[in-house]
Amino acid sequence: MALSSDMMDRLRCPVCRSALVALRCTGCAREYPARGDVPVLLDGSISLFRPEEIVPETMRKPGLGRFLPELGENLKAAANYRRFVELVGRGRVLVVGGRILGEGMEALASSGLELVETDVALGPRTQIVCDAHSLPFADETFDGVIAQAVLEHVLDPVRCVAEMHRVLKPAGLVYAETPFMQQVHAGAYDFHRFTHLGHRRLFREFDEVDSGAACGPAMALAWSFTYFLQSFATSTRQRKVARAVGIMASYPLRFLDPLLIDRPATIDAASAVYFLGRKSGEPLPDRELTRQYRGMDHV
Ligand SMILES: [Zn+2]
Repeated sequence: MALSSDMMDRLRCPVCRSALVALRCTGCAREYPARGDVPVLLDGSISLFRPEEIVPETMRKPGLGRFLPELGENLKAAANYRRFVELVGRGRVLVVGGRILGEGMEALASSGLELVETDVALGPRTQIVCDAHSLPFADETFDGVIAQAVLEHVLDPVRCVAEMHRVLKPAGLVYAETPFMQQVHAGAYDFHRFTHLGHRRLFREFDEVDSGAACGPAMALAWSFTYFLQSFATSTRQRKVARAVGIMASYPLRFLDPLLIDRPATIDAASAVYFLGRKSGEPLPDRELTRQYRGMDHV
């Protein structure tokens, strides 16, 4: 969907933050390309991605993968997005990493909120190609920001969260889901994992509304078992077969996560964690952070 004209006015140069006129920076005079009606607003000096490399991608899973289920289920996403929509009420929401609609985001898609869906790649829903390290928007543009399974894939998550903070209006809402116990996915573009408190600290300039485990320890085990099998492979074909066996053999595990997801010890073993918070001016002190530990690994 094309961007609203008000949204076009709030686009900024990702390098110097000056206003853009017809995708030309009024400050540093850089010119930015577009693919169809999708502006490509990348700062080549800090992004892994180059404008000339941005081409439409095929979303179909290759080969055997087409017939397989996902390796586990996000148990909190649907309810959390419904809550996010309720709390935001009305306004404009930035989706970082939104080239496709994420897991459980149906309530967001049908909410009537103005979604601005961005990614480093073109996809069916990408409206702007940009990099979370340098978001091409004026300060205080959004009422909400969403980042599902994004922060493990960025080189500098602290900087990316600072950018989300900058583009949010005062008291704007942020919602993030990020892996804790998951093996490498997306190959070369996978850099970080976060414990519940490590994730909370990333968002220390936000007041917490809610946080916890989004994907449970059985999903973590399913991933671990599947990647264990894959580690025997010495060819791509063998790895695909090992993956298929792992996914099918661990399939029954997913029925355990609904029993476990809200138990205290799950926070120490979750496959992924989430954080829902409001932009605040005061960072959470680190000693207060450690007091917020909710697991059972007491030392
Ligand atoms: Zn500029």
